[in-house]
Amino acid sequence: MKIFQTWFAFGPWIFLVWLCFVCPGVCGSEPANTPPPPSQLPAQIEHLAPDTSPVAVPEPDAKALSHYHSGMTLVGVFILWNLLILMLFLFTGFSARTRSWAERWGRRWYATFVLYCIGFGLVYYLASLPLNFYAGFIQPHSYDLSNQTFNRWLGNYVKNAVVMIGLGLVVGWFPFFMIKQSPRRWWLYLGLLAAPFLCVMEFIQPVVIDPLFHRFQPLQDQALETKILAEAARGGIESGRVYEVNMSADTKTLNAYVTGFMGTKRIVLWDTTLKSLKEDELLFILGHEMGHYVLGHLIKLIVFNSVLIILLWYVVYRLAGRVIERFHMRFGFSSLSDFAALPLLALLILIVSLAGLPIPMAFSRHIEHEADRFGLELTHNNHAAATAFVKLQQNSLGISRPGILVKIWLFDHPSVGERIDFCNRYRPWETGQPSRYDQYIRPQPQAIPAGQTR
Ligand SMILES: [Zn+2]
Repeated sequence: MKIFQTWFAFGPWIFLVWLCFVCPGVCGSEPANTPPPPSQLPAQIEHLAPDTSPVAVPEPDAKALSHYHSGMTLVGVFILWNLLILMLFLFTGFSARTRSWAERWGRRWYATFVLYCIGFGLVYYLASLPLNFYAGFIQPHSYDLSNQTFNRWLGNYVKNAVVMIGLGLVVGWFPFFMIKQSPRRWWLYLGLLAAPFLCVMEFIQPVVIDPLFHRFQPLQDQALETKILAEAARGGIESGRVYEVNMSADTKTLNAYVTGFMGTKRIVLWDTTLKSLKEDELLFILGHEMGHYVLGHLIKLIVFNSVLIILLWYVVYRLAGRVIERFHMRFGFSSLSDFAALPLLALLILIVSLAGLPIPMAFSRHIEHEADRFGLELTHNNHAAATAFVKLQQNSLGISRPGILVKIWLFDHPSVGERIDFCNRYRPWETGQPSRYDQYIRPQPQAIPAGQTR
């Protein structure tokens, strides 16, 4: 789900955090608790018909391991690089000088913010260009994971900078306004506004922001669409929308996701996924996405993350006063409501978010697991689900079993190994046990015995 993008897209400064976690290759490996190969699985499972047989968790090859180590190094470098840039902005007095320049030319409060925000954004994106070029272009090409041309990469980078600076101009002034109006309670008011803000961002993401980068269109395969709509109807979704997007212009990896809010809600399939997965594998992936729909995961994520954002702002509020008191001479400002304090807000948000990241990640892994359960209960096709995960991992050079710290901090989905293990063992319908989401799912139509007509 894309909610984490929205959360971290609270403005250009929070985007710094988001950047740290979207760089490619954040999978990990430490094959602890490797399950037995299929031949050693209990006879009860082993004797099943071929299309319901268990699937082995693939071991990462040397290329996947190298990709993992490269990705981990990049995450570390991204974090350190962002910390360094923000500290340089503050401790060299560059931020205060930029604000003074903006005041001279802007004169009025909002005009000053606009000039400061543009100046800060341009310097930040220029300074980050080399690292982003390596992480977003060189590294994926060196692992043969990308088809993207340099011009397209650069175009997307510039568009992204314009969108994020534009978003900063629209909403970024508001925290400073609140800090000025209510120096002791601003963190609470901003936190309470997080939920409506996230809803608006989620509403506009698929119809305003995403189309700037990719071409979306209704699913072209009519026969597949008919089967998807029948599956959606069984899952209680009567008017679901499924789109395909031309991600093959940028990547060879696979994905699908739910995005949007209320009238803009939809399921999106990458065209790479459509080309690489078989029909029953696609139907499971869509069943997983339908689970997000039916189980109300989006609203649960918004409520959960909004509470975290209140806590985040509170910790930032408590820390900011002390830091300014100690370093105000070096910084060139003495109040958090000064626009020059923007890098300080960004720095504190980055540090506090990193420290607290295991909490939203754990919640996300939980709802992704429940969406897997829903997909299995809807399709009863465990084998296809597991082979879909194998392909997702292999096409993305992923790692099936990450190290525990990597998983806790960086994985918003269960590892592929855990997902395949779950597909292999979760079959309550075969033993007459109740399924958890029975109340949402209409029974599968019974197969018609040969020679009979309905
Ligand atoms: Zn999901």
